[in-house]
Amino acid sequence: MQLADFIDFSFIDVVDIILVALLLFYLYKLLKGTVAINIFIGIVIIYLIWRLTDLLNMDVLSNLLGKFISVGFFALIVVFQQEIRKFLLLLGSTNFTTRRNMVRYFRFLNQEKRVSTLDLDVLVDACEEMSKSKTGALIVIQRNNSLEFTYSSNNRSEIKLGPLVLQSIFFKNSPLHDGAVVLKNNNIIATRVVLPLSEKPKLPNKYGLRHRAGLGITEKTDALVLVVSEQTGKIVYIKDSELYPIDSFAALKETLSQDLSE
Ligand code: ATP
Ligand code: MG
Repeated sequence: MQLADFIDFSFIDVVDIILVALLLFYLYKLLKGTVAINIFIGIVIIYLIWRLTDLLNMDVLSNLLGKFISVGFFALIVVFQQEIRKFLLLLGSTNFTTRRNMVRYFRFLNQEKRVSTLDLDVLVDACEEMSKSKTGALIVIQRNNSLEFTYSSNNRSEIKLGPLVLQSIFFKNSPLHDGAVVLKNNNIIATRVVLPLSEKPKLPNKYGLRHRAGLGITEKTDALVLVVSEQTGKIVYIKDSELYPIDSFAALKETLSQDLSE
């Protein structure tokens, strides 16, 4: 190869490389901490063996692996169905574009205002009260991604958030206390919602199904979640598949207000 050939790369090549790097970075971010990373490593190993057998002219093995790799693309879609879904959601959500400051101008093409009318004082006060009385609660706050897939018409509601509303819902003997509530702006749009459970293998033992369900929905969408533990009264805030134990209500309010205007 001539040196001239080597350094002859255009602006498009640079863009190409940057895009591949970004793609790999997001792929890694998505797969980090999941079982999918092991599958990913497995696939990379098979690919490397295939290249090696090809190089060494081991025809039979190379042929066999080649066949496997050629249908591998479809296998990938099946195996990584969840991850691909989340990646596309991330890509398509306006939240992603604004966070990266890439396409600021899209803001003004986007008619929908992203200012949430959620009353944080009422929400955080309710959490504080439920924490004191050890009332278990699971609150999902919708952002850009619709959460409609998690509930049916049976769960739909139209309850304006006000003082004591969340406490009444999650009160132990209330018919609505089981499952999660979904908040959209200042309204509870669904109750008794069964959320998809996270399959994360390394979740501390103190977290049971309520926390796993809260984590699950943040793995699939950009929703924010608040969990009040019935056992300990502790509050956990969940965002982007990460659990943040809360000990200051003022800080929680601040974080929520920031995350809702993102
Ligand atoms: P806590 O600290 O409050 O005990 P936990 O994380 O240990 O919470 P569990 O004790 O298993 O969780 O909580 C069970 C409650 O979690 C159920 O009563 C139910 O209301 C809720 N829950 C369980 N699974 C789901 C789900 N998939 N979607 C929504 N809510 C769920
Ligand atoms: Mg429990």
